[in-house]
Amino acid sequence: MKPAKFDYVSPLTVEAAVEALVASNGEGKVLAGGQSLLPLLNFRMARPSILVDLNGIEELSYIEDRGDRIAIGALTRHRELEHSPLIAARLPVMSAAMRHVAHLAIRNRGTIGGSLSHADPAAELPMLATFYEANIQVQGPSGRRTIAPKEFFVDALTNCLEPEEIVVEVEFPVLKQDGWAFEEVARRFGDFALASIAVSVLRGPSGFKAARVAVMGVADKPRRLEEAEAELLAMGFDERTPDRFAEMIVSQVSPNDDLHASADYRKHLLGQLAKRALQTALAMKG
Ligand code: FAD
Repeated sequence: MKPAKFDYVSPLTVEAAVEALVASNGEGKVLAGGQSLLPLLNFRMARPSILVDLNGIEELSYIEDRGDRIAIGALTRHRELEHSPLIAARLPVMSAAMRHVAHLAIRNRGTIGGSLSHADPAAELPMLATFYEANIQVQGPSGRRTIAPKEFFVDALTNCLEPEEIVVEVEFPVLKQDGWAFEEVARRFGDFALASIAVSVLRGPSGFKAARVAVMGVADKPRRLEEAEAELLAMGFDERTPDRFAEMIVSQVSPNDDLHASADYRKHLLGQLAKRALQTALAMKG
């Protein structure tokens, strides 16, 4: 298939990109890595009147250490996140997750802004934004605003952006942790996840002082499981803790049956991944 006819602009600033979107009266689309948008154009599932290509806006590509936060420009490629020593040191869960994102050629082009905006419920970056409670900064005709992941991800493949708004930056808080893990199962390595979990813990002398848990592949959008975090804080740790954690996680999700897996299978997978993730996190010395 070939796309329907469209105009094309390649602005050099975010302001010019927003102006082009405003001028399109809601008919324009932003182009970043093109890894999700181009198939949609080719199948004519998207028919924008104009493509606003962000690739010439150099100011949108960076990874910046801001002390207790790491800021990432919207045009930063998946592969840069995968190989960044700063991300490995400060956001290790992200570093571990990035090699599960698609295949090398896609990671070379795909961007964090594109992945968040596409909002696939089985994609790693939306899940990581949820896990870290990232600040998603967007720019539109009336300036910038910051959106929390809970509000940004509305449903499968649906975000809360206005048609003239562009994601410009995502800021990830650095977690206080002495153990963490990212676990995922996909049919083939690099496929979208059937189920996945991210876990971070901080231990005290007799129990957990902090815990963070997020899952994906088991709902229409990624979920942070705050109830599970609270229950984990109430548990001490002994050899039964990973099994109890897995039971608790499974009891808190209700996936649907779909083409790729039954709901029961996804729950079973998630339970196994939860147990393995907590075992890995607890085995770390901190
Ligand atoms: P584009 O394709 O350019 O855009 C996607 C959408 O986001 C479009 O609607 C576009 O208008 C909008 N958009 C882009 N940038 C912005 C912005 N800054 N502000 C506002 N809107 C914007 N992803 C995974 O996470 N895990 C996987 O396992 C995985 N497997 C894949 C396998 C295949 C075969 C393919 C083709 C893709 C896969 N992907 C996977 C998706 C990949 O990560 C994409 O790169 C990503 O979803 C979209 O990023 P992009 O930069 O290519 O965005």
